[in-house]
Amino acid sequence: MDRQVSERTVRVAVVGAGPAGFFAVEALLKEGGRVSVDVFNRLPAPFGLVRDGVAPDHQAIKSVAKVYQRLLERDELRYFGGVELGADVHADELRAAYDQIVYAVGAQGERPLGIPGEELRGSRSAAAFVGWYNGHPEYRDAGFALDCRRVVVVGNGNVALDVARILVRSPDRLAETDIADHALEALRRSRVREVTLLGRRGPAQAAFTNPELREFGTLEGVSALAEAHELELDPASEAMVAGDRVRTRNLATLRRYAETTPGADDRLVRFRFFVSPVEIVGREGRATGVRAERTRLEEGADGWLRAVGTGEFETFPCGMALRSVGYRGVALPGVPFDSGRGTVPNDGGRVVGADGRPVVGEYVVGWAKRGPSGVIGTNKADAAETVRAMVEDRDAGVFAGCAAPGVGRRGEGTGGAGQGVGAGKSVGVEELLLRRGVRWVDKAGWRRMDGCETRAGKARGRPRVKLCRVEEMLEAAGPPEVES
Ligand code: NAP
Repeated sequence: MDRQVSERTVRVAVVGAGPAGFFAVEALLKEGGRVSVDVFNRLPAPFGLVRDGVAPDHQAIKSVAKVYQRLLERDELRYFGGVELGADVHADELRAAYDQIVYAVGAQGERPLGIPGEELRGSRSAAAFVGWYNGHPEYRDAGFALDCRRVVVVGNGNVALDVARILVRSPDRLAETDIADHALEALRRSRVREVTLLGRRGPAQAAFTNPELREFGTLEGVSALAEAHELELDPASEAMVAGDRVRTRNLATLRRYAETTPGADDRLVRFRFFVSPVEIVGREGRATGVRAERTRLEEGADGWLRAVGTGEFETFPCGMALRSVGYRGVALPGVPFDSGRGTVPNDGGRVVGADGRPVVGEYVVGWAKRGPSGVIGTNKADAAETVRAMVEDRDAGVFAGCAAPGVGRRGEGTGGAGQGVGAGKSVGVEELLLRRGVRWVDKAGWRRMDGCETRAGKARGRPRVKLCRVEEMLEAAGPPEVES
């Protein structure tokens, strides 16, 4: 191993405290060696989609946060919650202060449908709905009134299932979860009786995982329905299903739904296929339905089964249309970005610049690396690949450009007050944030915030009662302890 490497601690910045970031931290710490990790997160509270994405009635999935919490408590790790890359600290400043930087920012954007009427009142993104019911501060005031009887959800992925389930499931059951209080109140008053999911392709092509689809058959006061004629498969779809356990199970589940007789007072969830939205229709600025073209499948030269329009149309009346057609990565200021794929371009986790060469010392994991696919666990293998590259580079003594020993590192003579960032010498990140008046949440602050939420939850028989505004979070956290 390079002598320089073995003699000093390798400073790593991880940008993003969600599953991908923590799986990277876990793999890094397992590697051993002298490493210190600073984790930056845009929101004060850590854990990304585990806190803000996973549905509140899926607490078992959220239990992975315990693993992340244990990592967060490690001495090698510092936490900077509420610090945004590009606003509070810049990529060049991280480059100057760290040996290696890992981008683990997920896919923060939503994909539009790109059809007329999307701007109508009542036409919303599933991402906003998810953020709203999960207490994400940016969606605290997103205002889902739920004053209509029918909702259409466009898309056939697990997010579409999550939002449909939250809309129909008993509020009394949701009250046992950590759903945001404002959402619980709105769901208690909700007039929604029927949710229709639209798939532009067939049941064989749906991206649902089976336990999530099957769950609709178990919800009290809910009937899941499908149309038998939409479940008939063409030969190419038959071939797709054969030997694929998830698709086979999904078909069996949907066939049961096609035979269901709904109870008189049940809330209904309808699974419809071969319908591709062409317009959100409305009256007086408000959505009143989704107009869709019926489709059939056509196999392309690449074997992909595409939905092609048949020229027949159907309108699905609704007071709210939620598009749930996937997330999309958003460019980070000063960091390479592939706008076509919505990811940070990379080669096995090493960030690649516009010239096609690796950007020394910079790495990417998770959805920012591969796009918004897979379940939480998928990020573990993904992070392991990136960390292998980091360790290879570390062993070869290849680090971020400006991070020469003695510059901008904790305990290594950081720049004094008034010293300019990016002016040849860098300053430590804490000092930089203090100088800018950025109030961040450290580990102890998060512990206080977490304690405040879980104590409030305990008093009401819930896992936690979430703080949903940044100011409330900062107040509960208190100021960070600054190293002298
Ligand atoms: P997704 O799985 O990629 O599904 C997106 C859906 O949108 C697909 O059915 C796609 O259909 C459809 N779609 C795309 N463009 C469309 C258009 N213009 N018109 C109509 N439909 C369109 O995305 P997601 O549901 O957002 O989930 C993201 C990831 O998170 C997935 O990997 C998912 O499994 C995961 N997740 C997991 C859980 C869980 O494990 N419980 C919960 C939530 C999310 P086509 O196939 O025809 O493109």
